[in-house]
Amino acid sequence: MKQRIYLDNHSTTRVDPRVVDAMLPYFSECFGNAASGNHCFGWEAKDAVERAREQVASMIGARPDEIVFTSGATESDNFALKGTARALREKGNHIITSVVEHKAILDTCRVLEDEGFTTTYLPVDKEGLVDCDELKKAITKDTILVSIMHANNEIGVIQEIAEIGRVCREHDIVFHSDTAQSAGKIDINVDELGLDLASFSAHKFYGPKGVGAVYVRGGNVGTRVKPIINGGGQEKGMRSGTLNVPAIVGLGKACAIVTSEKPDESARVLNLRERLRTGIVNGLEDVHLNGHLEKRLPGNLNLSFGGVPGYLLLKSLENEIAVSSGSACSSGSATGSYVLQAIGCDDELIDSSLRFGIGRFNTEPEIDYVVSRITEVVTELRN
Ligand SMILES: *Cc1c(COP(=O)(O)O)cnc(C)c1O
Repeated sequence: MKQRIYLDNHSTTRVDPRVVDAMLPYFSECFGNAASGNHCFGWEAKDAVERAREQVASMIGARPDEIVFTSGATESDNFALKGTARALREKGNHIITSVVEHKAILDTCRVLEDEGFTTTYLPVDKEGLVDCDELKKAITKDTILVSIMHANNEIGVIQEIAEIGRVCREHDIVFHSDTAQSAGKIDINVDELGLDLASFSAHKFYGPKGVGAVYVRGGNVGTRVKPIINGGGQEKGMRSGTLNVPAIVGLGKACAIVTSEKPDESARVLNLRERLRTGIVNGLEDVHLNGHLEKRLPGNLNLSFGGVPGYLLLKSLENEIAVSSGSACSSGSATGSYVLQAIGCDDELIDSSLRFGIGRFNTEPEIDYVVSRITEVVTELRN
């Protein structure tokens, strides 16, 4: 059988077998509702949820009561932005974010604009970084919320979150960061980064899909956030709905694995990334790196191959190597990646871009195979 190689770990990751094992009992023997306070089935489920809450908190230097479980980073982003904006409406109506945020942020800001809020979208430089001076200039007396992602999902660029956090603190502005891509890959400490709110998604770091968390500084008595899902009052009223216990257990286990293994894993993944990058760059001319080389997730590589349409590249690889492209055809937009546009790539380079996402389960032989196939295919397509 031909081997299949998965290098699309920014889209989603394989669930770690240890996470699957941790989850299994909570589908069958331990199926209780964590809100059932009157019997042992409920207590067992609640214990598991509270253990997971500790595991998530411990990964990011937070307290367990500051963790709210959600369906993933999209919901966490919606909760953080809509919840904060609506709670602080009488204080001001101005939000600051950046042009390279995930759609879960950008689209939510559009909705808030319909509700009377205004948004400033900060630009990024050619390496993908937000300039803190631009942020300072954008702040007005009406600014209530700043949301800047930690690491970008396309070009892997890591923003100066601690510095942005300090600026927000000085101006008494709530600071949210979408940490869906950085969690499990680089250090996150909510105090060091000055975060008031942060969004997490389990399936981006070897947990199950459809579960995530939002960090809320001070919990339900701290940072003011209005719930967006109302009902039975679970999660101290911040997010109603019966808790997805098996998924939450999986998220907790994924965090515990990160806490104990991340330093080694990051170094290994970075080695693989550099092996891939140098292999490709040494074997081909006219290859461009998109995004900052050092301020970048260890597993991210985003390259443009001059003169080669990305969709043809993808087409040639689709049965054996999973990667993604910023080209218009594959990104589902008329213009191609807005992130690559924001860093000043011209249309041709956007169209010829590939995103490689290396993760926990990739191996050196896989990387070597990808280097040789990419080199072959690009050379063929150029001829
Ligand atoms: C994947 C991702 C999301 C959405 O997460 P889901 O859990 O899939 O909803 C949001 N932001 C970023 C940066 C992401 O990479």
